[in-house]
Amino acid sequence: MATVERDVLIVGAGHAAAMAAVGLRQKGFAGSIAMVGEEAALPYERPPLSKAYLAGTLEAQRLYLRKAEFWQERAIDVRLSTRVTGLDPQARTATLSTGEAIRYTWCILATGGRVRPLPCPGAVLPGVHYLRTLEDVDGIRASLKPGARLAVIGGGYIGLEVAASARKLGHEVTLIEALDRVLARVTSPVVSRFFEAKHRAEGVDVRLNTAVAAIVGETAVTGVQLGSGEVIPADVVVVGIGILPNSELAQEAGLPCDNGIVVDEFCRTADPAILAIGDVARHPNRFAPGALRLESVQNAVDQAKTAVGVILGTPEPYADLPWFWSDQYDIKLQTAGLAIDYDEIVVRGSPEATPFSVCYLRGGKLIALDCINSIKDFMAGKKLVAAGLEPDRTLLCDPDHALKDLMTTPA
Ligand code: FAD
Repeated sequence: MATVERDVLIVGAGHAAAMAAVGLRQKGFAGSIAMVGEEAALPYERPPLSKAYLAGTLEAQRLYLRKAEFWQERAIDVRLSTRVTGLDPQARTATLSTGEAIRYTWCILATGGRVRPLPCPGAVLPGVHYLRTLEDVDGIRASLKPGARLAVIGGGYIGLEVAASARKLGHEVTLIEALDRVLARVTSPVVSRFFEAKHRAEGVDVRLNTAVAAIVGETAVTGVQLGSGEVIPADVVVVGIGILPNSELAQEAGLPCDNGIVVDEFCRTADPAILAIGDVARHPNRFAPGALRLESVQNAVDQAKTAVGVILGTPEPYADLPWFWSDQYDIKLQTAGLAIDYDEIVVRGSPEATPFSVCYLRGGKLIALDCINSIKDFMAGKKLVAAGLEPDRTLLCDPDHALKDLMTTPA
């Protein structure tokens, strides 16, 4: 078996991996870099997959983070369709599915997550799809023939975005959510109710408190059987019920894992030569009460910067403000901060009409905002949350009082 030496081995070729490789070269790192990813595609952006790309308004070429030449020109050894199958921290060596081995000085684990499978009968029938990769969405697009009826299982961001994109394409859509509201994991009831109403107004049949008993069909899906026994007719099913972190490689190498690879504020695992970044990294976050994993582009990009700093000997702790966005129909939701353990909610404007924003406070301190079609609130809100401000409630709930002025208004 051939063994090659690389100064930096990046496992995964997704967003975080790509940004780490790009960042190293941008900062003048002249050592050798290998980036090994099991997908066939060069690094691309996932967010448009459930939005413009599914809706057919963005071409695949626009998804790629860098052109193919970029990786060659920067002497980044990109191995696609290749899985890292084992990691030996003592020997600082990784084995690949090709039979080769790479000996590294630094290893960055950027293995992301994989979709959580639907645990019910019929879940493997043709016509049942998940959405994580470009290949997945190409499969959905091929199945969604004109007139096809779609059932979406899961009312999280991805489920809602798929429903919105499919309505744009004219499909009949039923959205099935087990809990009593959509986006329950990430936002407050007021924002959930807004999105439920929006989807209903756009013609989606939103079913809450609804369990899925089985996917039905002989040779391909024909419907979704609910806990009540009712069968929702469907030609295509898209399941969006979350992801599981790809932490097995780290776990088998003896690195501590707990719903993700455990890292410190420098993205270091228990092995000082191995870093973990992106969706897979369970990290301490100064905007959260405890350690957590974040599934966002912001986190992938900013943790990549942290890893680059560690490798270059200029370590800076990861302390960036989490932010996120979602596009559905004519609605842009932008979230700043993490709405965890809040004890007060202040609504700026009215959920009856956009724009409006929902502010989350803990002990009087502004910890997060959900801004609906309000880029101004989002931009100013990011600064307020990062500054740990305790804003005046009367001014905060007044949509005519610019949030940016709260930075200068004495509390
Ligand atoms: P990934 O992008 O998942 O990359 C990990 C890569 O590692 C994968 O290609 C995987 O195949 C590979 N890999 C895993 N194990 C191995 C191994 N052993 N060997 C080799 N390769 C391996 N975020 C936002 O902020 N805003 C959005 O609007 C948004 N929308 C999204 C919509 C969709 C449909 C999806 C799927 C995600 C969305 N996200 C969004 C989340 C965002 O895309 C992720 O947070 C980001 O891609 C995480 O990057 P990552 O590099 O950590 O993981």
